[in-house]
Amino acid sequence: MNKMTIRDVDLTGKRVLIRVDFNVPLEGSTITDDTRIRAAVPTLRYILDHNPKSILLMSHLGRPKGGPDPKFSLAPVAPALAKLLGKDVQFAEDCIGSKAEEAAKNLPEGGILLLENTRFHKGEEKNDTDLAKQMASLGDVFVMDAFGSAHRAHSSTVGVTEFLPAVAGFLMEKELDYLATALEDPKRPFVAILGGAKVSDKIEVIESLLGKVDKLLIGGGMANTFFKAQGIAVAKSLAEDEALDTAKEMLKKGSDKLVLPVDAVIGDDFKNEANHKTIDINDGVPDGWAIYDIGPKTIESFKEVLQKAKTVVWNGPMGVFEMSNFAAGTNAVAQLLADQTKTGAITIIGGGDSVAAIENAGLADQVTHISTGGGASLEMLEGKTLPGVAALKDK
Ligand code: AMP
Repeated sequence: MNKMTIRDVDLTGKRVLIRVDFNVPLEGSTITDDTRIRAAVPTLRYILDHNPKSILLMSHLGRPKGGPDPKFSLAPVAPALAKLLGKDVQFAEDCIGSKAEEAAKNLPEGGILLLENTRFHKGEEKNDTDLAKQMASLGDVFVMDAFGSAHRAHSSTVGVTEFLPAVAGFLMEKELDYLATALEDPKRPFVAILGGAKVSDKIEVIESLLGKVDKLLIGGGMANTFFKAQGIAVAKSLAEDEALDTAKEMLKKGSDKLVLPVDAVIGDDFKNEANHKTIDINDGVPDGWAIYDIGPKTIESFKEVLQKAKTVVWNGPMGVFEMSNFAAGTNAVAQLLADQTKTGAITIIGGGDSVAAIENAGLADQVTHISTGGGASLEMLEGKTLPGVAALKDK
């Protein structure tokens, strides 16, 4: 990575302002999944070991509309983080102004302060310069460790870098190392697997990946539009008429790389208890039925490709994996990635629903890297430079 990290700056005696991604799921004030908090711990431990004057943590949580809203308060995160670090974590009721400044001033040497949700200020998402300046005034150095927010140019991710030297934390570094290396200099064969609901969400991803991969496996609802573009009946399946021309073009351009499903599990209703059966894609989907998963022959054909792969990137489930009768394809792909990892291949899960899928399959610890940022990793797969990365100091 050509960006400076916390290893490249002197942190001793510094007020270290860090943008983390503590956008955790909450039920009331209970954190139902603390993955994102745990992901920040290596960076925080490193900084703590280098005698900072203080650590000030900024994050957003949820999508509060038009100002402070207790439903989206970061307050529950402070005790959770304190427990993980074994160290007191103070909380300030605002991320700027007198409340933040007072709390920061009252910290003991090396103390940690979590600042309230940055999105309680309307200027945050507009990358308001004045807000950024006030945030920056709390620190001497800025550490960007919120990979999941790095695709957004906000005051707390990009704006602050105008006023403070900005470097990457370890989570950021790890995400970029895996994703950027896979995309720029992959060990080959390099195979990508794309799934999920719609083609239209991922047109740019497909276009960008076709220029980089050796094979691109397509599953999930998005495959249906490709079937329809080939004149195959898809009946009630999710398919996008407005994306048919794009799909035709991609089929032409990517004919040597695209691998589409050859069979599918179809259901006669969008529920787990629906009647379901397997069909060959070339036979078309009968009226009243819809495609909800890839079939066993497809799994075999994906397996053949994946067994040769040295780098694999996966984004999007192969079917309606939330329903057990339509989860076999997604689970099989998760297992194939775990198997391939054992052979030394680099396997990367690109965030979002594929993370839930690999966790459901109990295989999260058997792949190389699971990205913490769905949107951010998709934008990297699209070949874009993330603004929160571009703003960091070059090495
Ligand atoms: P995405 O956010 O684009 O990755 O899409 C994930 C969603 O796509 C999941 O909720 C899946 O249930 C859904 N999905 C995957 N395959 C299909 C399909 N064949 N038909 C309808 N929905 C699907």
